[in-house]
Amino acid sequence: MFRPLSAALLSLLLLSGCAHQAVAPVAAPAPVAVMDLPNLGVVKTQLLAYHDSGAYDRDLARVAAEAGAWVTARAATLPAGSRPALVLDIDETSLSNWPQMKVNDFGYIKAGGCDLERGPCGAPAWEMMGQAAVIAPTLAVFRQARAAGVAVFFVTGRPEGERDATARNLAAAGYEGWAGLVLKGAGAHGQSAATYKAAERAKIEAQGYIIIANMGDQDSDLAGGHAERTFKLANPFYFIP
Ligand SMILES: [Mg+2]
Repeated sequence: MFRPLSAALLSLLLLSGCAHQAVAPVAAPAPVAVMDLPNLGVVKTQLLAYHDSGAYDRDLARVAAEAGAWVTARAATLPAGSRPALVLDIDETSLSNWPQMKVNDFGYIKAGGCDLERGPCGAPAWEMMGQAAVIAPTLAVFRQARAAGVAVFFVTGRPEGERDATARNLAAAGYEGWAGLVLKGAGAHGQSAATYKAAERAKIEAQGYIIIANMGDQDSDLAGGHAERTFKLANPFYFIP
């Protein structure tokens, strides 16, 4: 589930349009410098190159390796009887939505069917298909955690109605033996990802777990504490507040 990179740019462009139309009796307000904005078409080309060159995969692998090393080392220091936990986001952390992003030309299609050949591909339909591919470096962290006796919780902004499809997708991708799958329920409707996810981590701690690591692709996956260390994966493709 994601929102388009272009939202912030669009806001700036709209603001710019207002500035040009404004009547300025004394002094013209400083306009937004459109020429300073990146060109959306150029940015999309750069995003494709970043993905297709292998640089994206290398960046994912570098951060995941740090996370895996920390999880293993930290778990070994905890006294017997401790309940260490790892929290993972799902989209662009554990599973990749690349086919959806690509066929939509990095737009976010919030409803409707998913045509992966020609597009558009609606996000809920895509998620219900359960075909997202594994992000292999994260699966490696997951397996390192399990081998070290660390419980793994997925905390995702996907809605509760996608539970079965998401669980099937995780299993198909190789994630077996997780302790919990937290999806966004009606009670969290309207909350930002940062608020909702921090509250869910607090609930995990309240069960007696020590969250030794939290890994996600958005700053909003990691904000708000309730983890000893955070690990931020690259995602220049979209932004979730
Ligand atoms: Mg994500």
